[in-house]
Amino acid sequence: MVETFQDKLEKYARVLVEKGLNVQPGETVAVNIPVFNYELARLITRFSYERGAAEVIVDYSDSHRQRENFLHAKEERIVNVPEHAIKKMEYLLEKKASRLSIVGGDPDALNGVDHDRLSRAMKANGIAMKPMRMATQANEVAWTVAAAATPEWAAKVFPDLDEQAGVEKLWEQIFKTVRIDTPDPIEAWNLHEAQLVAKATWLNDEQFDALRYEAPGTDFIVGLPQNHVWEAAGSTSRQGTRFIANMPTEEVFTAPDFRRAEGYVASTKPLSYAGNVIEDMVFEFKDGKVVNVTAKKGEETIKRLVEENKGAECLGEVALVPDPSPISQSGIIFFNTLFDENASNHLALGSAYASSVEGGVDMTQEELEAAGLNRSDTHVDFMIGSAEMNVYGIRANGEEVQILRNGDWA
Ligand code: ZN
Ligand code: ZN
Repeated sequence: MVETFQDKLEKYARVLVEKGLNVQPGETVAVNIPVFNYELARLITRFSYERGAAEVIVDYSDSHRQRENFLHAKEERIVNVPEHAIKKMEYLLEKKASRLSIVGGDPDALNGVDHDRLSRAMKANGIAMKPMRMATQANEVAWTVAAAATPEWAAKVFPDLDEQAGVEKLWEQIFKTVRIDTPDPIEAWNLHEAQLVAKATWLNDEQFDALRYEAPGTDFIVGLPQNHVWEAAGSTSRQGTRFIANMPTEEVFTAPDFRRAEGYVASTKPLSYAGNVIEDMVFEFKDGKVVNVTAKKGEETIKRLVEENKGAECLGEVALVPDPSPISQSGIIFFNTLFDENASNHLALGSAYASSVEGGVDMTQEELEAAGLNRSDTHVDFMIGSAEMNVYGIRANGEEVQILRNGDWA
């Protein structure tokens, strides 16, 4: 029997609910999803209730509507997050709602929106939604970010295809990278998880003091905090639920010591941030801080991110992704961080995950900062990996151990 698109979509919804969020009886499930993907939203809702969810709350996103708001809404609406949005966040926090974010909007949705306005809005939103971001980053609730194909996104990834063919092709890629085209996707995920965890365990045992990166345009050393924890694929929420934060995921990641970064890093993939695409960035770091950043496209956007958000001039994540990962091998640039970050070694400007140091989820913000974890209001990943990249772990005695050779595990 040939699987129809509908069969695959159902399989996908099940994987998201059972393996991604791992919905538990009595839970509140909050879903954010593009309006185009209402069918997937219905399946997610149905399967969540089948697993005993107490309530499923779906918020539909729409990059067209978002663009109109950014272009025309009154200034006071741009710089103030409305009370009802904050109330809703507080409700979800109180219910310890698990959160499923389905991304798929237009990567260029906000292209042409006034930079000042956009920057003010992003900043206001970052501050207002900080409790939610902190709860998520500390795994107080289960959360999953996954993707769904939309015409806007497909048009950016496959500009030569018509709308229907583009959406189909993008779905094909999503299903492949999320292992939906295997006979038993849940089993395939269990195996994949075990492989990534083995790498993380090795890195945790090594406890390197720093990492050194070498590649064309990159000559960079970043310090790692004491008792840092490399994580991969699965996480455990404070309620004890195993969940997968990103689907797809190919990364093994931890936090850098935000006070220790030196040298130059060149980006290797475009970054879609704040509805704008930024390309060919070069960052110069001194004493942990970005002291200069240039970009061939979107330079103003990246400069503003670094300069105008607290802590955005320092790093909050280092992630290793072997270059032969399925996403990288597809050769497709997705203009979507969920995919592009899982195709390539990356760093993030901004806040670190509390779980990236031992005992971190029980530390105060001050303790986390003292441990070397960036407490920024933002978190933006950018891709630096390639088949030409070498990464070395530096032990406390100065000895170097090669981790990645020509982009792959050494
Ligand atoms: Zn990452
Ligand atoms: Zn990240």
